[in-house]
Amino acid sequence: ARAQIGVTGLAVMGRNLARNFARHGYTVAVHNRSYAKTESLIADHGDEGDFVPSETMADFVASLARPRKVVIMVKAGGPTDAVIDELIPLLDEGDIVIDAGNAHFPDTRRREEALRAHGLHFVGTGVSGGEEGALNGPSIMPGGSRESYEWLGPILEDISAKVDGVPCCTYVGSDGAGHFVKMVHNGIEYADMQLIAEAYDLLKAGLGASAQEIGEIFAEWNKGDLESFLIEITADVLQHVDAETGKAFVDIVLDRAEQKGTGRWTVQNALDLGVPITGIAEATFARALSGSTPQREAGRVLPAVAGEWNVTDRDAFIEDVRLALYSSKVVAYSQGFDQIAAAAEEFGWDIDRGAMARIWRGGCIIRARFLNRITEAYERNPELSLLLADPYFTEAVGNGVAAWRRIVSQAALNGVPTPAFSSSLAYYDGVRAERLPANVIQAQRDFFGAHTYQRVDKAGVFHTEWSGDRTEHEA
Ligand code: NDP
Repeated sequence: ARAQIGVTGLAVMGRNLARNFARHGYTVAVHNRSYAKTESLIADHGDEGDFVPSETMADFVASLARPRKVVIMVKAGGPTDAVIDELIPLLDEGDIVIDAGNAHFPDTRRREEALRAHGLHFVGTGVSGGEEGALNGPSIMPGGSRESYEWLGPILEDISAKVDGVPCCTYVGSDGAGHFVKMVHNGIEYADMQLIAEAYDLLKAGLGASAQEIGEIFAEWNKGDLESFLIEITADVLQHVDAETGKAFVDIVLDRAEQKGTGRWTVQNALDLGVPITGIAEATFARALSGSTPQREAGRVLPAVAGEWNVTDRDAFIEDVRLALYSSKVVAYSQGFDQIAAAAEEFGWDIDRGAMARIWRGGCIIRARFLNRITEAYERNPELSLLLADPYFTEAVGNGVAAWRRIVSQAALNGVPTPAFSSSLAYYDGVRAERLPANVIQAQRDFFGAHTYQRVDKAGVFHTEWSGDRTEHEA
């Protein structure tokens, strides 16, 4: 038993993760339900490091040094449970089972509890960065016991992406915390992508710009505050030409966005926790709208009653869109970090939000220069209740508010849908409002359902006898 770590499940992700371990000098036990994948890994990449292939799960477990560290990288859901059930009787107390697939965090909480009862550590781990990240350094978000991180942390940090020499991996929190943070990461990714898509749409409508020209604008933006992987690849994609037709590639791609479900999980959880993550929710619904074919076909008859774009200063318009994009993006992150804080409270996780922003700087899809600013904000104030209210962001977003309002209002006047830009601005105005119209909601609720209300001028909970003499009494 000499392997330092094992990977079971050798499809694209597991295969690349195993190669990443091996390339970092670890002896890696490898296993897959069907042996062909194990054989092909060894045939294609066996020379990259020290692999110990096994055909059976029992041999695989036996090849691992104790405490055994087994990474499961199979299809999320039932297959993960099937592999865990197969592993349990083969493992010994103190061994560590790592689920690096895209599990839903309630499943991770359930599995952690079950394995703890067997004296095993269960580490639900978020891994972001796709197959390229898995091979060359992903962002890694491990949950589970602190004790297991003592054993596992150094190995995971070793194979993770590095930014300024700092690993994009840190202990997140107990049981489902790692998968939860990965879920919110994906939700933020949805928002980021939708915001970029809306910016593209505005530049196209407002300037009549070609995909190539918009790609050049994005490439320029990537040199400033917006510098990020998603802006970079958008610039690249927009400038790509379809070989078959000679047209801009994006112009031949069908406008129907698909989803695997992590955005939906994020929104569902936000509803459970009562956290307004409007940017992520609008981004998720925007994908759904794009795929609502019968409705879109029927909707073509709807009158636009819209104005015409009349952009007189091209550069000023581009800068307005850039500022609106930046401000909306900060809102999406601020909301996502609120959701992490709310879940930490709900599930008893001690999550360092600044550290989460730090491990998202490299390896993952939302990697961006501006994450440094988020880390700094939480370092200034770990208890920060609103990321937007950190002095740096208050100023940065404040500088863009006028542009943001111009863009959202012009989009509305001219009939361009900007659900994420618009809802983010509405959130900004909502969260900064001295007084919201929720007073009216409370009055209505008390009227029809005796749901009571509080007063601004004295403490207590009150109800008014609406159908009687309208006297007020303390509830
Ligand atoms: P898939 O999700 O396509 O899963 C295929 C793997 O699961 C194969 O190794 C397959 O074995 C195994 N498997 C399926 N059912 C069972 C079962 N009942 N028992 C045992 N093994 C089973 O592989 P990916 O590499 O794409 O993803 C792996 C995990 O990583 C998933 O949870 C995914 O969500 C997650 N992930 C994926 C990313 C990506 O970019 N693809 C990014 C981040 C995370 P066999 O060969 O025998 O069929």
